[in-house]
Amino acid sequence: MTKRNIEAMYPLSPMQQGMVFHSLHRPGCGVYCVQFHCTLRGSLDVNAFRMAWQLVVDRHASLRTAFVWKRVEQMLQVVHRSVEVPLTREDWRDYRPAEQEERLDQLLEQDRREGFNLSKAPLIRLTLKQVADDAYFLVWTNHHAVLDGWSLAIVMKELFACYEAFRRGEEPPLEKPESYQSYIRWLQRQDMERAEEFWRQTLRGFTEPTPLTFDGGSMRAPSMSDHYEESAIELSTTLTGDLESLARQHRVTMNTVVQAAWGLLLSRYSGEDDVLFGATVAGRPAELPSVETMVGLFINTLPVRLRLPRDMPVGEWLTQIQGRFTEICNFEYSPLVHIHGWSEVPRGVPMFDSIVVFENYPVDERVRSLSSDLTIERFRAIEQTNYPLTIVSAPGERLPLKVLYDADRFASNSMDRLLQHLRVLLAGMVSDPTQHVATLPLLTNEEREQLVVGLNHTESDYPRERSVHELIEAWVEEEPGAVAVRFEGTEVGYGELDRRANQLARYLARLGVGRGDVVALSVERGVEMVVGVLGVLKVGAAYVPVDPGYPAERVRYMLADSGAAVVVTQARLAETLPVGEARVVCVDADWAEIAKEAESKPGVAVGPEDVAYVIYTSGSTGRPKGTVVRHGGLVNLVEAQRVAFGIGSGSRVLQFAPLSFDASVWEMFMALGNGGTLCVVRQEVLASAPELRGVLQAEGVTTVTLPPSVLAVLEAGELPALQTVVAAGEACSLELVRRWGVAGRQFFNAYGPTETTVCASMYRCRGDEMAAPPIGRPVANLRVYVVDGQQRLVPVGVPGELCVGGVGVAQGYLRRPALTAAKFIPDPFSGDAGARLYRTGDRVRYRADGNLEFLGRIDHQVKVRGFRIELGEIEAV
Ligand code: AMP
Ligand code: MG
Repeated sequence: MTKRNIEAMYPLSPMQQGMVFHSLHRPGCGVYCVQFHCTLRGSLDVNAFRMAWQLVVDRHASLRTAFVWKRVEQMLQVVHRSVEVPLTREDWRDYRPAEQEERLDQLLEQDRREGFNLSKAPLIRLTLKQVADDAYFLVWTNHHAVLDGWSLAIVMKELFACYEAFRRGEEPPLEKPESYQSYIRWLQRQDMERAEEFWRQTLRGFTEPTPLTFDGGSMRAPSMSDHYEESAIELSTTLTGDLESLARQHRVTMNTVVQAAWGLLLSRYSGEDDVLFGATVAGRPAELPSVETMVGLFINTLPVRLRLPRDMPVGEWLTQIQGRFTEICNFEYSPLVHIHGWSEVPRGVPMFDSIVVFENYPVDERVRSLSSDLTIERFRAIEQTNYPLTIVSAPGERLPLKVLYDADRFASNSMDRLLQHLRVLLAGMVSDPTQHVATLPLLTNEEREQLVVGLNHTESDYPRERSVHELIEAWVEEEPGAVAVRFEGTEVGYGELDRRANQLARYLARLGVGRGDVVALSVERGVEMVVGVLGVLKVGAAYVPVDPGYPAERVRYMLADSGAAVVVTQARLAETLPVGEARVVCVDADWAEIAKEAESKPGVAVGPEDVAYVIYTSGSTGRPKGTVVRHGGLVNLVEAQRVAFGIGSGSRVLQFAPLSFDASVWEMFMALGNGGTLCVVRQEVLASAPELRGVLQAEGVTTVTLPPSVLAVLEAGELPALQTVVAAGEACSLELVRRWGVAGRQFFNAYGPTETTVCASMYRCRGDEMAAPPIGRPVANLRVYVVDGQQRLVPVGVPGELCVGGVGVAQGYLRRPALTAAKFIPDPFSGDAGARLYRTGDRVRYRADGNLEFLGRIDHQVKVRGFRIELGEIEAV
């Protein structure tokens, strides 16, 4: 650059600074490199075309501008007096059309990668490829820092005016434009103190960006990728027309309507009711003379904060948003970096990950009709932003909605769904502007159907009228000699087990225990433990497992809370058990007495609605609560296990879990309800990995259910008998699937809270899993729903709380009606008036393949204007 060729030097606008900064830091990835591509049809006069471009460039300082940042105190833009427009031409007429298209794609890609040397003017270039005698591909590339979308329309208009004039041999009739420098001067006069005050006020209490957690979105480092793609839809002319009337009626712009829809979508997706996103504003100050014909970069991106009122009519809300946006536009000169600094979002954390761009310059329409003997076809602009998600819309008969997204973070099918959700939200707004914002639908009918019905097709036969011990009794009839329980080398057959359980049941009946009662059970691992469980069930009572190792305080509490009048235990445990008033029955010391009872069934009628057990869980805070689980859910579970794991008379199932965890229920009835053998071992053996492995080997265990943390410390190989491994109780890693899911063995990930009868969903892992296994789909006769904080279904890919319905749902918490009502809620989805759902408090989302992914626990915290309030137990609600 020579001094003589310099026309002017002046500072950058803040937006220019940002773009130049990003481009310098990420060379070669095409950031802020904008491409316009179209097909020119007609007899193009290339010479006139070149002259027209040159004249337009000569007219506008921005098109002759480059940047300097080395050896200067402050980055500057330098306007050159004259530059030549780089225009390359090539003849592609020999290529077939498909090949031309392919080459065009390559050209665009390569051209984008090439980017610009920001210190060399001009920051625009043109490429013409002749593809037919009367057709050219035109690619016009420029750096965004010198030109915005509005300017594009001006340049195009002037370009064709000049072209037409040159063709006719006339001088183009254009007035001298205003220079971009006058805008820079205007910027320098603006009141930054007032802006600061405004933004501090506007953004107060907003401390972190609205998460884009759908689709695994937030899990990657932001802005490190250059792989952008786009999806687009157009609304129908009817819907567009209706939206325009809605906008007119409430005196809002279409831009506001689109922003409102985006804010709503963000809120529904993130579960937040106070969201922030960016919006691009034209940035052309009305007070600047001829501002509408200036070429340069005027646009700015500003934060838009929307609060989602629960009970405000849509129309009123739109008006409110419009008011806010008008306020914001008074400060549209504020540099985004400064706004960020004035906000409470920490430096280094982006304020927002998504922006809305409403292109208020109808480029297509204007440009198409500019030239008399040239037509413009297939007009396309390719633009990359710095944001993971950009929503682009524009005026039109059919409102366009486009999403530009970081393809490393978002899947294309999620983006297609997202656009449909925007459409549904917009359609909801026009269908009834008086309805409340919170009740606007988000899902398409097909999606709703899929989430409610399609993914819950679990109806399946099971012995509906049976109790769980009747299932076992059926095996007693069928094969009384088959081994029911193995313990330390002894084997107890189904017949013998049944006789002993009958005796205990009759003994308990004699003590006054009957149907509907609760009996505490504190017995160490062994045959007597199983006898104890069955004995209690057979008399029609529910057992409450009390771990012999529990602290006295907890035992006392559980006994009192459950109202158990009888404790079934063993002599050495009875000595220290704080039983209080309860009657103690020792299955060992008292057996001589018990054995006097008859060996036949006590004949108490027990049905699916009767309670089978009450298991206490502590929850995160507060007192332990007893979950009341019925026979029906248990019988259903046993059948589901038979089908899923193929349990039968040859199966050997390890009893790993202690009785006080419901995983023990899963193991015990999986074996005994399906005619298999339950392998019981002493507690100490299970606590050591080598010994546990020894047990699996020596006992020839075929089916084992273990927490991932145990699987992690256990050797997986050389267990030829082991056919089925179920990981359960906590999140399972891919590494475990790979290690344990060897050929000839099936590996499952099973999920479920105690409140849904041990298991709610399962997933059978494949041999080639690429990610941590999902928790799968609901088990037979259970249903699952993923909902937001207001119990609305969330779409596939969006995190929400898992709610479980169906036959496994527990009766509730013993003697805790408030807590029960808070966690077990009416099921609005099944259509069955009495149906209830259990809110698990687990955060999940649907993968695209319909399997549920476990994301963690929901922390029951409520955000109130920047303060976090712990709710702890929901009971407090
Ligand atoms: P509990 O009610 O004591 O059986 O605990 C159930 C809880 O354990 C669930 O609500 C989950 O938070 C967690 N959990 C159980 N199974 C799984 C699993 N397969 N993956 C992840 N978390 C699990
Ligand atoms: Mg459990």
